[in-house]
Amino acid sequence: RFITVEGIDGAGKSSHIEWLRNYLTQAGHAVVVTREPGGTPLGESLRTLLLNEPMSPETEMMLMFAARAEHLSSVICPALAQGAWVISDRFSDATYAYQVGGRGVAERKFAALEDWVQEGLQPDRTLLFDVSVATAQARLHDTRILDRFEREASDFHQRVREAYHQRAAQYPERIRLIASDVPMDDVRAQILVALSDLLA
Ligand code: C5P
Repeated sequence: RFITVEGIDGAGKSSHIEWLRNYLTQAGHAVVVTREPGGTPLGESLRTLLLNEPMSPETEMMLMFAARAEHLSSVICPALAQGAWVISDRFSDATYAYQVGGRGVAERKFAALEDWVQEGLQPDRTLLFDVSVATAQARLHDTRILDRFEREASDFHQRVREAYHQRAAQYPERIRLIASDVPMDDVRAQILVALSDLLA
């Protein structure tokens, strides 16, 4: 099973990913947790560039897909072929949200690259952690040094969030919204509901 986890920066993905990893492992599954951009040595180098170097929105999108091509061929597809559950912290919905929604790259360019790199492969389920931009920003500023994306103004994050919602409306079966401005246990309950048919 291929599960991806999405949301604006500060939505709380990481702590829930660790919980889900443990949950699935205890249920007896082999689990591979990975992330984008990143997940491979080349992908991690591209991540460093993406998070630090100024670049055009088109370059940014192509590097995201370059990292993804490598990630799919060397990590995701082999793990799925062996029967593992793969949990990826971000995947192509993030590229849609950040580079199309946030940066304004043409949707047809996204669609062309997605088709080229993924050849129809989509996650079995996507958990979209959803909080208001104000809540997310407050969490981020409390926790760490911000990268190039996280330092963007709140209207950027607002566009990203709206693009995630559009994408969720387009793929209602695959993408499940998880309200993450509620207590941990409530978030976990929502995750289990969102995955219930896959866990059965
Ligand atoms: O989720 P994580 O914080 O690891 O992501 C690293 C950064 O890359 C984030 O700030 C995110 O906004 C950005 N990003 C992006 N486009 C993607 C994936 C991630 O702008 N397609």
